[in-house]
Amino acid sequence: MTDTAIPLWDTPTLPVVGGKPFPVRRIFCVGRNYAEHAREMGHDPDREPPFFFTKAADAVFLDDTLPYPTATEDMHPECEMIVALGKGGTNIAVENALECAFGYGVGFDLTRRDMQSVAKKMGRPWALSKGFDNAAPCGPLHSAADVGHVAKGMLRFTVNGEVRQESDLDKMIWSVPETISYLSGLITLYPGDVIMTGTPAGVSAVVPGDNLIGHVDGLTDLTLKIV
Ligand code: MN
Repeated sequence: MTDTAIPLWDTPTLPVVGGKPFPVRRIFCVGRNYAEHAREMGHDPDREPPFFFTKAADAVFLDDTLPYPTATEDMHPECEMIVALGKGGTNIAVENALECAFGYGVGFDLTRRDMQSVAKKMGRPWALSKGFDNAAPCGPLHSAADVGHVAKGMLRFTVNGEVRQESDLDKMIWSVPETISYLSGLITLYPGDVIMTGTPAGVSAVVPGDNLIGHVDGLTDLTLKIV
């Protein structure tokens, strides 16, 4: 045990179905990775290079009851598939990228949309509109060894039983291997890194009392009640 100036904190982890907890190193999120969502946010989805933002590892949230975040009146949960990396690297070729994928799960990229709109207008970073306490609720991971690599299947987000987002995963502009490969050309990826792969169209606000369910075929649903 390293002797440190202040007590060392616990590494955030994600549960793994049928396995040991997965330690989370960093969280990277892909922006505008579904054409219809890019359009609804006012952008041309033509294949411009992917862009990324980050959340701190300790934004991972595992409870099923989430206090409504501070400093927003327009919080949007973006339902996304998440990929957890068991291996990293630099300049990883697309054809080798899936060797890095340990497993898959469902996550919500919580967004303080009002704060983000101001940031966009002012040319400021999105850091705190995307990264804040509990900004990454995640369901358990399923290892690729168990379920294979997930490239298609329905992603569906419901609020109080009403469908708000629905898309096949094969509508991603940048596939999981392409995303891993591209990101590894920007920074060195490490085991424990988690990628939120982007959200389809239909993003909208939720309020206290809402019951959220994020679904991806073949993975465990992510259920969350906002209080
Ligand atoms: Mn997102």
